[in-house]
Amino acid sequence: MRTDIDALADRVLGVLSASAESDYIGEDVNQLEHALQAAHFAREAGASDAQVLAALTHDIGHLLDPEAPSMAGLGVIDHERVGADYLRAQGFSESVARLVEGHVQAKRYLTFAKPAYAARLSEASRGTLEWQGGPMDADEAKAFEADPLFGPILAMRTWDERAKVVGLEVLGLEGYRACLVAHLEETARADDAG
Ligand code: FE
Repeated sequence: MRTDIDALADRVLGVLSASAESDYIGEDVNQLEHALQAAHFAREAGASDAQVLAALTHDIGHLLDPEAPSMAGLGVIDHERVGADYLRAQGFSESVARLVEGHVQAKRYLTFAKPAYAARLSEASRGTLEWQGGPMDADEAKAFEADPLFGPILAMRTWDERAKVVGLEVLGLEGYRACLVAHLEETARADDAG
């Protein structure tokens, strides 16, 4: 099991590492800086390992396939689902996958529930919102509020939005390897037991 998990960790870290070459659409940091800063803010907030890993990988759906259909140059369509499915396939826990899957829902929720929020969105983020279904309606918002991961998903969103600071010094990718390996090991054990 040991080597399998190390290979999985290498693969995921490899995808993230290569993303230093990719722009974070419409922002002044690259995708790797964005991921590392999101994870940094999660750690700073005392988040769980699952939340930290979700913050680190939340945009991985943008990085997997250069040919994937895009939102008119604003990133991969349904990147949150693409990313969550990829993470499930790599052996991440369902909570990490669901946090990643939910980060766009948080934006759809906040643009419904907090009118001031919509006004603060960056231009790129406003552009993608339309592709992502626009603001939630009241029923969708109510269902989302009842989700056990409602709070953690909103927290992810705040780290995501802050993770655009040019030149911020944060822990590098290798600093997350131990946490990643432990998470994959734990999830594999839980699957074996279940
Ligand atoms: Fe993001």
